[in-house]
Order: sequence, then C-alpha cells, then structure tokens
Amino acid sequence: MNFLSITKTLIIPVLATLPVLSFSQEEVKQENSLHTQLHGDLLSEQINIHKEINLLDSVAFLYKLQEEEAEFPAIDLYNSWDTRYVNPYKNDKTLQLPDTFKINVAEYSMPTKEFTKITDIFGYRPRRRRVHNGIDLKVQIGDTIYAAFSGKVRLTNYERRGYGKYIVVRHKNGLETVYGHLSKFLVNPNDIVEVGQPIGLGGNTGRSTGSHLHFETRFLGVAINPADIFDFENQVPHTDVYVFKSKKVAESSKIPASAMAYHKVKKGETLGHISLKYKVSVRQLCKLNGLKSTSTLRIGQRIRYQ
Ligand SMILES: [Zn+2]
Repeated sequence: MNFLSITKTLIIPVLATLPVLSFSQEEVKQENSLHTQLHGDLLSEQINIHKEINLLDSVAFLYKLQEEEAEFPAIDLYNSWDTRYVNPYKNDKTLQLPDTFKINVAEYSMPTKEFTKITDIFGYRPRRRRVHNGIDLKVQIGDTIYAAFSGKVRLTNYERRGYGKYIVVRHKNGLETVYGHLSKFLVNPNDIVEVGQPIGLGGNTGRSTGSHLHFETRFLGVAINPADIFDFENQVPHTDVYVFKSKKVAESSKIPASAMAYHKVKKGETLGHISLKYKVSVRQLCKLNGLKSTSTLRIGQRIRYQ
C-alpha cells in the first residue's frame, strides 16, 4: 500500500464520522458551575472551528488525491511508465503479480458503440502457432473507438507488421487496454481520458485483413480474455468486479486431470445412454464437453462424464 491509498483509507472514514464529533452538551451540564459552563462553551467553539478547518482541508486534500490518481493511474500496482511497449512488465523483477486482484469494471464503456461481430476470439491459434492476445471486433473504417475505462494514454504507436496504429491506456482500476488497427488517433500519449471518451477511429492498419478493432485487456502485462470481462453481444460487463487470478491460483482451482473420466462412444449410443450409464444429467454432459443436447456423437468419440 502506498501513500495515496493510506491517506485515502485514513481520511475517508474521518470525513464520514465528522458529524458525530459534535460536543456533547450532556457532559457540560454535569457540573453546574459557571466556570465549567464557560469552559465547556469554549471547548465546543474550538471543536467547531477545528471541525470546519479539518473538513475544508480534507476536501481539498481529496481533490488533490483525485488529481493525482488521474495523473498516476493504478500507481499502487505499476512502478514504471513505459512509453514504447505494450507489455514492458515481462522482465520486470520488481513487479509482483498478486495471486488474486479485484478489478472494478462497473464504470465502463464498450470500445465500440454497437456490437456487430466477433471476427476472432482470444487464445492460442494452432494454425498460426501463436497466441491471440485480444479479441477482434468488426468495425468500419472511421468508426469511433471509445476508452473502456477512465485513465491515461500510455502510448500511441504504429507497427506495420503488427498492431498497425494502436493505443495503450492505463486505467485507474489496474487494467490496461490496447486498441489496434486504427485509422486515426484522437488522443496523444499522456492524455488523461474519461471512460467512454472517443480515443481513435477504427481502421485496417498493420497486420489486418478487413477493418476491425483488435481489443486487449491486460493486467500487469498479463493478457486477460476480454470476453471474460465483457459480454460483447449485450455490450455489458459480466459482473461489476472482475477477479484476476494468477496462473498459479487459476490452475490450482481447476479439476486435476486425474479426477476426470471419459466414456468412449459405441455404435448407436446417444448422450441419453451415457447419462443413464454414469448417472450424470445430459445438461452436465453438454457442459463438460461443449456439446448441444442435439449433438450427434461419433463412434469412438471421448465424452467426459466426470
Ligand atoms: Zn486481433
């Protein structure tokens, strides 16, 4: 925890409790002497003065904090401001990747105004033997692209064989987003951007066939499937808080391969047969195997039932 977050945690509760701090009249009345009364009045006056000064100071201080937060988004997490690379964190030994981290995505904007089509999904593409670190969304050249969250533009760059014209924005919630294949930048490096602010225009620059937006969401350099955060078709996040899990944690919560069990499909067998045999619902079988209840099975196909 750094200075900003410590002061925030200290000051916000103090502000919240201020009205409760008013001087208790009960205590003053306990002793009826004039001296005590005067003393009490003086004290309560003093407390009120202090209260006002503290409140003004605290409000000014909070504004200052907000300004600093905009200027240094997610400073708790990132200790450098690289202006050249999408992922400069790979070899940064000083960066500690937390096991889990809650990312607030409630104040969001979808990068495109309307959902048209996902032209490529996130993940490993065996055919090209490389990982696709983002999601491709169909756009027309000149379509407005919006900042997904508020933050600060870390870099704008051009890669002829890669991203084309692209923008990297670091957000207050700890994420960084990348917008690739743009035709035009509407922001400059170090610009502070609000959520939903137009930052560029869609295009077909770089390694791209057909105009589309290549959109990445990263946390400390680690690419997260944007479709795990956003429901693109409905143009909303799945939840208000996305929980990042390090590979180690994510894998430990997975079912070990030894606990999985498969059935080899014989002639004439349906999901119904397998369901009866292993006492697993057809729905569960579909879920485990990515099938539809109407899917026809191949002889020899391995169906996971556990
Ligand atoms: Zn892409």
